[in-house]
Amino acid sequence: MAGSERDHACDDPARDHQPSSSPAPHKDAVGSNSVESTIAPHQRSVDQVLAALHTDWRSGLSETQARERLSQYGQNELTPEKPTPRWRKFAAQFKDVLVILLLIAALVSAASWLYERNSALPFEAMAIIAIVLVNAIMGYVQQARAEQAAAALQRMSTAHANVVRGGERARIPAAELVPGDIILIEEGDTVPADARLIESTSLQIAEAALTGESVPVAKDIDAISGEVALADRRNMIFNGSAATYGRGRAVVTATGMRSEMGRIADMLMQAPAEPTPLQRELDHVGKLLGAGVVAIAVVMIATILFVEDVRGFRAVIDVLIFGVALAVAAVPEGLPAIVTAVLSLGVQRMAQKRAIIRRLAAVETLGSATVIASDKTGTLTKNEMTARVAVTAQGRADFAGTGYDPHGKLSCDGGLLGDVLQAEVSWALTAAGCANNAVLVDHGGRWTVQGDPTEGALLVAARKAGLDPEELNRSFERLGELPFSSQRKLMSTVHADAERAERLLVFTKGAADALLARCSHERVGETAVALTAKRRAEILAVNDELAGEALRVLGVAFRSLPEAASAHRPFDDAVEHDLVFLGLIGMIDPPRVEAREAVARAKGAGIRPIMITGDHPRTAAVIARELGICDDGRAVTGAEIELMPDDVLDRTVREVSVYARVDPEHKLRIVKSLQREGMTVAMTGDGVNDAPALKTADIGVAMGVSGTEVTKQAADMVLADDNFATIVAAVEQGRAIFSNIRRFLRYLLSSNMGEVMTMFFGVLLTQALGLRAAGESGVVLPLAATQILWINLVTDGAPALALGVDPPDPGIMNQPPRPRGEGVITRRMWVGVFFVGAVMAVGTLLVLDLSLPGGLIEGTGTISHAQTMAFTTLVMFQLFNVFNARSDERSAFSGSAANPWVWGAVGFSLLLQAGVIYLPFLQEAFSTTGLSAGDWLLCAAVASSVLWLREASKLIGRLARARRG
Ligand code: ATP
Repeated sequence: MAGSERDHACDDPARDHQPSSSPAPHKDAVGSNSVESTIAPHQRSVDQVLAALHTDWRSGLSETQARERLSQYGQNELTPEKPTPRWRKFAAQFKDVLVILLLIAALVSAASWLYERNSALPFEAMAIIAIVLVNAIMGYVQQARAEQAAAALQRMSTAHANVVRGGERARIPAAELVPGDIILIEEGDTVPADARLIESTSLQIAEAALTGESVPVAKDIDAISGEVALADRRNMIFNGSAATYGRGRAVVTATGMRSEMGRIADMLMQAPAEPTPLQRELDHVGKLLGAGVVAIAVVMIATILFVEDVRGFRAVIDVLIFGVALAVAAVPEGLPAIVTAVLSLGVQRMAQKRAIIRRLAAVETLGSATVIASDKTGTLTKNEMTARVAVTAQGRADFAGTGYDPHGKLSCDGGLLGDVLQAEVSWALTAAGCANNAVLVDHGGRWTVQGDPTEGALLVAARKAGLDPEELNRSFERLGELPFSSQRKLMSTVHADAERAERLLVFTKGAADALLARCSHERVGETAVALTAKRRAEILAVNDELAGEALRVLGVAFRSLPEAASAHRPFDDAVEHDLVFLGLIGMIDPPRVEAREAVARAKGAGIRPIMITGDHPRTAAVIARELGICDDGRAVTGAEIELMPDDVLDRTVREVSVYARVDPEHKLRIVKSLQREGMTVAMTGDGVNDAPALKTADIGVAMGVSGTEVTKQAADMVLADDNFATIVAAVEQGRAIFSNIRRFLRYLLSSNMGEVMTMFFGVLLTQALGLRAAGESGVVLPLAATQILWINLVTDGAPALALGVDPPDPGIMNQPPRPRGEGVITRRMWVGVFFVGAVMAVGTLLVLDLSLPGGLIEGTGTISHAQTMAFTTLVMFQLFNVFNARSDERSAFSGSAANPWVWGAVGFSLLLQAGVIYLPFLQEAFSTTGLSAGDWLLCAAVASSVLWLREASKLIGRLARARRG
């Protein structure tokens, strides 16, 4: 930091007055109670704040100090609401009306047992309560898993901050910041804590979240006298606000709940998580089905009570319990919880593939993405720049070597550079090395870059030309900077010239077209020659030519200013005029190896990849062609987009897949245009100004490595590796998750349909089935109430969950995207659900009839044996149906049947069924009797019909569709 800046900071005359609204954490931070230390940091000079916080602006806190302060002040977090105690979460499982009804039914059953004493224990009541308990535990576990996943999600997207600790720059989780830490802020960062600025390079901060002021505020370091509102504390930056321009260094004054954001955190935290469209749809379907099933149950109870000859208190109770059990079993009350669990599981899987989901809804939307609009640099390319060539007035110099290793010679046509060319190149690289914020680091022969890779490559080039960056810093002390922004596409720095004190030097680098517009001369040898129109055209032609070689090209220029200009600090872009053009530097940024394949995969999946870049149109088009994004080499520029009315742009986006030299506003227009064309758009972004486009896109994708905190917070998904291929992998996962949700929906709905239809027709057809004849009390039900509950438990449990983790279909990326707006349950799915339900009902009732005297088919069994047979058949139907549920079209035998969870769940369910049939106390509770091997075989044979018949119906469907073409 410039010491002079600190000297400017004025002391506050009202220093012994403590404003009521001022945060005074520094008082705590230094453990001092002196009057001085209680003054708000914005009212004090930088030195005073630093002294009060016992920190050093250059080296920051030591690790030990930071650790001590962390244990003293706690994590820099907005404390979450008090967690709900576990017992409450468990108790919440019993809130459902149907569960309450079931508990009442258990009580009534127990009371009737007390009255009649017809068994040793109230088995039925015990069974109902046990089932309610198991259901509640399952619900609780599922919810806990969903919550854990959500917490993991939050952990994955934690914010980071750049700090200086022990003299070293480091990137740490923002939660670990403490008062006294020195933080570095630059464009696109979210401010991680309240802090007092000690250095500002044109820093502008958007504080809308705190002050409601939508326009970014310019920040400086001067102390402010007197008490002022938050919005006017221009030397402070506040937790949760965002840097929109420039850079700064600040000392943390308040963290976590002590920050200004902490004061309003209660308000912020109350916003509940929005349900995803899928959750909303399922909630709706669940309610609809619930109402339908309850209506059916009521009708059935009424039918039995009024039409059948129901005599005695016990018989009435039986019928009521039966009705409640049916309603409980058939209402898919657990759907939203299971969906959340599956979505969250999917999110974890995606995280393993380096795609971090920030909003659950994105998982669903990803599956229907029809366009992936991606940046070029770093996403489709490696963002590992190597300068290859420098072109000045005198000619072209080539650089040898690869990567950031600064060893490599310069050559001209394979030989040495002439003196003039050497001097021109050297001056061009001096400019490139000075207007530069990157740092080259040598890890024992392995060289890396801290900062922007483009700038890193320029530093490497400067070294290859024999220039030493440290020497440059000494010769040209930096006085100011006009930071790079993707709108301006330029960056300038102003320096004092150690050799000629009477002048300042401005070095500018940036996109050649933008730069040339600000140049009036060109340096030729040692002199500056006025730029003619012809020469400008020549330079642009060289620029195009280099871009055509897939090079990223930057121009460099300089100018001198009289020393007196330093009085006009901070410098503004007025200094970027009348520049002297120095040359062009072309660097390669090779395409990512995996990007080409990912582009092909996306295309195969009916998704159109689009490149939107700030780079030159030719560079963009060449790389796009290399990657297979476009064949025609056509690229539309931001300037062209500006001239297009919306309807023309709509037509353009239908055909053109490469957009170059675009600003963030153009990105926004492109997204909107694609959406008007009916596309579902996944769009990447990294810069702070990309946030609106990311928010507008159906799936906003931020870069985890090079992206700014602001874009990450605006995004639905963050790429941990900035890689295009990761987006495609995430789309695949999104599709797989959606297809799994459909699988278990198909399964649950058809299973429930089977149960409801069996009961409904069983009651309706008591006469035909022989049930009437078998019953002594006049009313005999196809299944006992506890049996229905059992089936619900078995089917809603393991098999449904196992389907939720089925591996994706191998052909999932060969299908077109799911149409936007298509519900999760399609018409074809409903047809399948009714078909399977009907088969189950017919089969189960057939077995029931077969096992009873009378009815359509004469049998010999007791009512208890017949019910056990029907019960086992219905359970086995559910187990066979697991395999049907994989698809509405594909055969259950095609593709991989290799989900061990499904087989495990089926085996486990069969084991439980055997337990219910053979264990004496369970026999009592579930009114079952032991079955013979022949009985089991019969049940299995009938139950397997659902598999064969569904296979046949799928085959007919496939043939019919093939015929339709
Ligand atoms: P993408 O949008 O695909 O990430 P990009 O990185 O090229 O592409 P920008 O960062 O907006 O997009 O850069 C636009 C142009 O600005 C570049 O083509 C280059 O000419 C120039 N440029 C890039 N980085 C710098 C920099 N650090 N200093 C000066 N000019 C730069």
